[in-house]
Amino acid sequence: MKDVAALESELASLAKRLSDLEDQELAVMERVETAEAVLAGIDADRASIAGETATLEAERDEAAAGLATERDAAERDRAVVSGGVPSDLLALYEQRRVRGAGVGAALLRQRTCSGCNMTLTGSDLDRVRRAAPDDVLLCPECDRILVRTDESGI
Ligand SMILES: [Zn+2]
Repeated sequence: MKDVAALESELASLAKRLSDLEDQELAVMERVETAEAVLAGIDADRASIAGETATLEAERDEAAAGLATERDAAERDRAVVSGGVPSDLLALYEQRRVRGAGVGAALLRQRTCSGCNMTLTGSDLDRVRRAAPDDVLLCPECDRILVRTDESGI
């Protein structure tokens, strides 16, 4: 009888242990499901970001191609124009262009340099007024070549 009671006690203990393990298994399975849901969300985000990246890269490449086309056209135009400019004036322009952040010559409009927006007055304006039409004049402020037109206001 004592052996039967011991066996029954051991069986009850094993049944409790099995129940506890089944509870633990359920808890682990719930954690796995939660982790899988988080992972699926991350995968979806990653796919979305990859799609957005591909779109932006395509836009960038298209813009770069457009800029390359514009640059080629500008270089062709520049070659045509610079071919008709005396070499000493072209050299002066290049020098001023380097100093002037890419702009070597500026229109003089209403006595104002379009390169730096300084309005010429006094002796600076007199010098421009007295200059021959083919004299090369420089802006006293930004040192760019001043291009005079009918709109120069002098
Ligand atoms: Zn200027």
